Amino acid sequence: MSYDRTNVFARILRGELPCKRVYEDDYALAFHDINPQAPTHVLVIPKGEFVSLDDFSANAPSKMIAGFVRALGTVARTLGVVESGFRILANHGRNANQEVPHFHVHIFGGRALGPMLSRAG
Ligand code: AMP
Repeated sequence: MSYDRTNVFARILRGELPCKRVYEDDYALAFHDINPQAPTHVLVIPKGEFVSLDDFSANAPSKMIAGFVRALGTVARTLGVVESGFRILANHGRNANQEVPHFHVHIFGGRALGPMLSRAG
């Protein structure tokens, strides 16, 4: 799948759409999800054109992968969810209902998060 430059997160990265920013560095941008599923629900996205984890892990420079993972940890600490616990999640493709075709990691926290997967479906 080729990268679609009109996707909503590409537009946020270009500053064409607003976001509630939590953190930013050379590798990543983190902002609050517009439709939060938990008291804390933040998205962390790499500053590059990657469709999903599959694309990112295969094609991103190692420096960017390291920077992105470090940003994830920094964001979790910034949000204050490390001690209480949190969950990270990245959807890839149809079976996971990936809606936005720019790689992103969700960080959920702020309450007990229940089982890892819904039994529905
Ligand atoms: P996914 O299903 O993993 O692709 O998740 C996409 C997420 O992006 C959903 O949780 C949406 O609520 C969120 N989202 C969509 N548009 C925006 C936006 N403009 N700002 C913040 N979050 C958004």
